[in-house]
Amino acid sequence: MTGKSLKPYKNPDRGEPGVKLLYIQTIGCQMNVYDSDCIRHILEPSGYAITSCPDDADLVILNTCAVREKAEQKAFSFLGRLADLKRRRPEVILGVGGCVAQQQGHAILGRMPYIDFVFGTRAIGRLPQILDRISRTGARVVDVEMTAPGTPGEPSSPLAGGGNVSRFVTIMQGCDNYCSYCVVPYVRGREVSRHPDRILDEIRGLVASGVREVTLLGQNVNSYGAKEGLCSFAQLLTRINDIDGLSRIRFTTSHPKDFSTDLMSAFGTLDKLCNHIHLPAQSGSNAVLKRMNRRYSREDYLDRIAHLRRIRPDIAITTDIIVGFPGETVEDFEETLDLIKSVEYDSLFAFMYSDRPCAPARRYPGKVPEAEKRDRLAQVLDLQKRATIRHNHALVGTIQTVLAEGLSKRNGISESFQWTGRTTTNKIVNFSFPEAGEDTPQPCIGKLVSIRIEKALSHSLMGRLIRSDRGQPV
Ligand code: SAH
Ligand code: SF4
Repeated sequence: MTGKSLKPYKNPDRGEPGVKLLYIQTIGCQMNVYDSDCIRHILEPSGYAITSCPDDADLVILNTCAVREKAEQKAFSFLGRLADLKRRRPEVILGVGGCVAQQQGHAILGRMPYIDFVFGTRAIGRLPQILDRISRTGARVVDVEMTAPGTPGEPSSPLAGGGNVSRFVTIMQGCDNYCSYCVVPYVRGREVSRHPDRILDEIRGLVASGVREVTLLGQNVNSYGAKEGLCSFAQLLTRINDIDGLSRIRFTTSHPKDFSTDLMSAFGTLDKLCNHIHLPAQSGSNAVLKRMNRRYSREDYLDRIAHLRRIRPDIAITTDIIVGFPGETVEDFEETLDLIKSVEYDSLFAFMYSDRPCAPARRYPGKVPEAEKRDRLAQVLDLQKRATIRHNHALVGTIQTVLAEGLSKRNGISESFQWTGRTTTNKIVNFSFPEAGEDTPQPCIGKLVSIRIEKALSHSLMGRLIRSDRGQPV
């Protein structure tokens, strides 16, 4: 989970007539990052440019997440800070969007008199009208309509610009799965897939602006297009694979119950499809999986992984795990530990179960005490830490193809140039050029470069770029 502000794409200039400054704080998953990008894009024609400082902004938007209790607390703590901003600068307009906004709608305006508007997960496309209404009438507005498909936060033209090498592209919204712990179907609505032509247009636009990698987003990408009779996810991937200039395709999230042989075969045929799959297991116990309403068994899950590894033996596999689901016994938990050991994940996200509004599991008996959940979480993280280190160490001495994304965060403290990118297996690689300070490495951004891995850390790798004879990055 992240809590980040959108980076400014250009230096906004207040001196420019008509320019208003917009600050967006994003909490939550990649889908929220994408939605924040849509917000920026949709408000650009109304004269808004991104600023990285809320104190300078004319408009501040908080894009919230309600998936776990912690994320919601984070949202309310940011909202508390906005009260102070409004006291100091009453002219600033404050808006709340995303899952918490969808869920709490009017209640937010009731509790927080300084908030000007609340907009739901499918109201992003209507933001210009909402702001127009506020400026004309001074009204406080709530728009949590889950209106017709096609409108949900979808950019009207490709989301180009931004200068990033890697970008998210939402291919579908909402979810129909109703896992018993999950709030998503209630706050993001029923599953709706975007038309493949619009997705392709958006990706082509991104590629034209320098993007080389896209991560396709959906709560359950495997069921893409099924309801609408569009095309299958594997067919969509095939069309995207044909886009000239695009180097890599990633996607998330794949529900194990719908992980089809069709999609597995795509890993055997599509050269741009990265060597990584995020396949959330949630639990290793069949009893818990059943109560979670996941609709696969531990055996189904392991079979699918075995099948996939036959197609791509070196594929990196990551997962999500929930510990302390209501009724999870010590034996159930041990089955989860055992699953983690047998899959040998490259990395994982683990969460302590939290009750969510609307989600049926909040009424399930057998709540696991917080201290026990913390202990189980620590056990999962400790087990995985050792596996991740093993995976990373195995790469030392190998040559990896890395998509160079930009300067690494450590650059400020390093004497040599430190650049960053990821392997096809989604591991972060910070790398330098052979002789420190000799080059301006700018030309390697957006390129696939060969890096000799020299060191493995717990969350990243370090290496050195290999040159061809002509001194060009290879
Ligand atoms: N659609 C994706 C996940 C979306 S939510 C999927 O099906 O995998 C991201 C992750 O948050 C989930 O995979 C789950 O591990 C976690 N999560 C969701 N609800 C939760 C809750 N109530 N408590 C703790 N973790 C939760
Ligand atoms: Fe939530 Fe399950 Fe849908 Fe994922 S598949 S968003 S966990 S209901």
